[in-house]
Amino acid sequence: MLVERSQIPSEGLDLEFFEEPCWEGVEGLWLSLAPVEASFHLEREADGILVSGAFKTTAVVLCGRCSEPVSIPVSDSFTILYTGASEASRGEAVELSAADMDVDVMQDDRLDLTELLRENVLLSLPLQPLCRAECRGLCPHCGINLNETSCRCRVQDGDPRLLPLQQLL
Ligand SMILES: [Zn+2]
Ligand SMILES: [Zn+2]
Repeated sequence: MLVERSQIPSEGLDLEFFEEPCWEGVEGLWLSLAPVEASFHLEREADGILVSGAFKTTAVVLCGRCSEPVSIPVSDSFTILYTGASEASRGEAVELSAADMDVDVMQDDRLDLTELLRENVLLSLPLQPLCRAECRGLCPHCGINLNETSCRCRVQDGDPRLLPLQQLL
């Protein structure tokens, strides 16, 4: 969805978002992704657009340790000041904005909210999702899921120098 800066009324513009971003090229990041619920508030600034937004969705991904599917809520909120290319090239807008606010450049005085949403969802995906904090993963030797059962690999794999000690215990 494209929004032109000139379309934003002086009191700002609130948008509930139902348009799904295009996930071409990144589908491998999840097994499935629920439709993204998002809302935006846009303010027209003298030299750009101030965007606050929030979204939530649910991704089904593989646990980084045991490779079982796990459903993970993904949500975030963000505030980004988009400036016109000319202002940004002078560097003033970037230096003047608050340190805790992201600044980006928009082309032709308009914003692609679908693309903005896509970027923020991708940034919010967990890098190493776990089915639970204490997931025990797979045995590196026999591949068994150690959350469900145990194997004897670790016993057999012990340091051979310690074997006499283990027999004593
Ligand atoms: Zn796991
Ligand atoms: Zn094993």
